[in-house]
Amino acid sequence: MAEATANIGVVGLAAMGSNLARNLAHHGNTVALFNRHYERTEKLMDEHGDEGNFVPTESIEQFVAALKKPRTAIIMVKAGEPTDATINALVDAMEPGDIIVDGGNSYFKDTIRREKAIRARGLHYVGCGVSGGEEGALNGPSLMPGGTEESWKTLGPILKSIAAVAEGEPCVTHIGENGAGHFVKMVHNGIEYSDMQLIAESYDLMRRGLGMSTDQIGDVFDEWNKGELNSYLIEITSTVLHQKDAKTGKPLLDVIVDRAGMKGTGTWTVETALELGTSVTGIGEAVFARALSSQPQLRAGAQKAGLTGPDGSLSISDADRAAFIEDIRHALYASKIVAYAQGFNEISDGAKEYGWDIDMAAVARIWRGGCIIRAQFLNVVSDAFQSGEADVSLLFAPYFKKAVEQAQDSWRRVVARAAECGIPVPVFSSSLAYYDGLRSGRLPAALIQGQRDLFGAHTYGRVDAPEGAAFHTLWAEPGRPEIEE
Ligand code: NDP
Repeated sequence: MAEATANIGVVGLAAMGSNLARNLAHHGNTVALFNRHYERTEKLMDEHGDEGNFVPTESIEQFVAALKKPRTAIIMVKAGEPTDATINALVDAMEPGDIIVDGGNSYFKDTIRREKAIRARGLHYVGCGVSGGEEGALNGPSLMPGGTEESWKTLGPILKSIAAVAEGEPCVTHIGENGAGHFVKMVHNGIEYSDMQLIAESYDLMRRGLGMSTDQIGDVFDEWNKGELNSYLIEITSTVLHQKDAKTGKPLLDVIVDRAGMKGTGTWTVETALELGTSVTGIGEAVFARALSSQPQLRAGAQKAGLTGPDGSLSISDADRAAFIEDIRHALYASKIVAYAQGFNEISDGAKEYGWDIDMAAVARIWRGGCIIRAQFLNVVSDAFQSGEADVSLLFAPYFKKAVEQAQDSWRRVVARAAECGIPVPVFSSSLAYYDGLRSGRLPAALIQGQRDLFGAHTYGRVDAPEGAAFHTLWAEPGRPEIEE
């Protein structure tokens, strides 16, 4: 048996696990390694074994024996069944007080279930969201660990050593008990869907609407990246737009099939929001936009059926073009604020439902570096939560209220022009509808409640009666008095 020299171990050495193991080793940790097929462990040792202290092992038993107590193992295997199989093998070999960390993209309800089962056996289980892809895993991810306070005492210093750093602070915080970390990571991914779709809608308006070239649009994104939209996603958008295809010399974007894939975290975010009753329209529309893009038969059928409508070109004079591009920038910023407001509302509703005490300001802070949605504006988001101004909604914080006020006319023009010319902007328009719904003193929901009472005797409340009092009307016979139930 190997001597217990490692203060941390990684199980699962594909792209994410091997990079995370290297990152850990680069920061002075001694890292035990295990992978189901030993070839991956060998490959890591051959290519990077000299980068730090690694302890390669060939069985789970050897791996566990190589760990110092409290033993801490990070699992980076395929989500779902492989994660359960790996957890079971580790639990059998470990002892009470040891810590198992799942760094995969697990569904937070699975994490809650696993944590309960593993806690019953005296071990700690930490579901930890890891964002930033392979590059982040190697050079500094944003980390969202759940689990017990006790496990955080051991794990905190290790995770802080490898996390990205933003404004001098490591991008990791203890999110809350059991599944809180994976819940926050899930919403992070949902916001990422929204952010990406908004950028895609902006691109479409410039490409089809204004007839601009990919290089011209790339230059616009470069400019936008210098201001309040400064973010990783805007930066990489410019790179994608400027890339040429080696085979044809065309913009690479033009030869990429227009079907956006997804792995499920966006869908989980929307499903969970539906369960919680949280309105995340931007994220929902972003997920559905990807779904529509990935239905080639339906789309080909629509082409064949010749569905009619405007062709997507905007009739805007050269003189007005710059102003319209500026309108798009404002619309993007306002919609982005709505996406974050909705995402944070989901975290807040989830925290209430599952009993987590989540520090929203800290969540915004750890998203400033390492992760895909890292953005300059998360500094102000964090400040808004820190001061309590965003407790109910990010949109109520004076900074963002003003930002939306300033962007608003542009936002409305963009949505209106897009509808006129036939370019779909589902997240721009649903975000605007959410904003208008939120600020409406009276919604048409009264009519829906009337309909529900008519066909299903679901009752309704009255504006002149105490909250909670229920009324029912015998609708078929107008003029009869309401009966209180
Ligand atoms: P994959 O998701 O491709 O998983 C491959 C790893 O899982 C290999 O180590 C493989 O072992 C192991 N594995 C598969 N099936 C089993 C099994 N039944 N029992 C034991 N081990 C098994 O690897 P990635 O590195 O891409 O991702 C790892 C985790 O990190 C996933 O949960 C993913 O969702 C998550 N993640 C990924 C991100 C990314 O950008 N890729 C970002 C953030 C999180 P073997 O070599 O023996 O086949």
